[in-house]
Amino acid sequence: LRGLPALRIWASAFWVLTVAALAQGLNENGSLLSTVAGGGLIALANALMLMGIAIHLRYPLRWRWPMAVVGLFVANQVHVYLLPPSQTASALMFGAYSVVWDVWMVWVLLWRSPRDMRNTCSFTALIFIIDAVFYLLRSVVVLFPHLLAHTPLDELLTTWNYLFGILSSFLLSTGFTLMLAERLTLDLRRLARTDGLTGLLNRSALIEAGARLVDACRARGQACSVLMFDLDHFKSINDSWGHAAGDAVLSHFVEVIRGMGLTNDALFARYGGEEFVLVLPAIEPVQVGALAERMRAAVAAKPAVFDGRTINITTSVGGAAATDANFEHLVSAADVALYRAKHLGRNQVAWNQGA
Ligand code: GH3
Ligand code: MG
Ligand code: MG
Repeated sequence: LRGLPALRIWASAFWVLTVAALAQGLNENGSLLSTVAGGGLIALANALMLMGIAIHLRYPLRWRWPMAVVGLFVANQVHVYLLPPSQTASALMFGAYSVVWDVWMVWVLLWRSPRDMRNTCSFTALIFIIDAVFYLLRSVVVLFPHLLAHTPLDELLTTWNYLFGILSSFLLSTGFTLMLAERLTLDLRRLARTDGLTGLLNRSALIEAGARLVDACRARGQACSVLMFDLDHFKSINDSWGHAAGDAVLSHFVEVIRGMGLTNDALFARYGGEEFVLVLPAIEPVQVGALAERMRAAVAAKPAVFDGRTINITTSVGGAAATDANFEHLVSAADVALYRAKHLGRNQVAWNQGA
């Protein structure tokens, strides 16, 4: 269970729930073990489920809030044990606490979940909603016993409620499993698209997203530009400063380019070792030319710092723009321009007009 904190907490919740069921099932109704230990453990299981959900969704919920509700419930149960209220009152109280937990979980699941995890969160939320409806109906039946007297629903809500508990626990464990599967799938997909060193899109993700972006530009008749960067004499940086310094230079370069205010629709990716591609949709090529020149100048003006020492870097840039070319063409046209920039002496921008 290491590495999956939510799974650990949910698994504990189901164990606690099992012990609670034993404490209640093996002891007489109204006994200390059944009322205080059994009831308290059910509240603790709810708190664990809620915290598991919050941790899974990276929603910053503090332990102290759910634990305060657990404390309140235990105090309530001690009171119930010492001064047993009517069956109606204790059933209503238990129902009210259950609904509070259900509403709290539904709120976190539906309103505090990231958009890409909504599907499985909605499934789990639905089970908590059904649970809340069950306890609300049960409270109505307890309050107005004559309403449903001698109907199958009455029996279902009052006598067979433990069956409902088993079924909802089963569905909840399914819901949590689906949530974990969705999170793992999303994380894997994200990892497969990301470059580990710089956090940029990797080459295969760029090829997929770039093709989509350029096709969308072409459909709207807008120009799309591709800039290809290649750091100058990078091998000699590695040779004289070491590989770790080379890595730091790559990260530094990415920070400098990112700091130039890229728009949200731009794609910035690591194309190869020290080669980067920037796709800029819907900007006039003249503006892209000026931007490329500003980027080149910024890289040359801001040396990287590694181990307290400064490392000067420069980059060559190849650019291409078109309204009717596909992504592959644009990239190879930018590559040809980059080759020219290198030949002309590096630390400059060359443009492929023919793309
Ligand atoms: P040019 O000016 O012609 O581009 O010369 P260059 O030395 O930059 O070009 P070359 O392609 O010969 O060298 C690229 C080097 O980049 C070779 C490789 O060892 C290094 N490299 C590739 N990926 C990484 C990486 O992730 N980290 C580090 N530190 N070096 C890398
Ligand atoms: Mg290279
Ligand atoms: Mg290079």
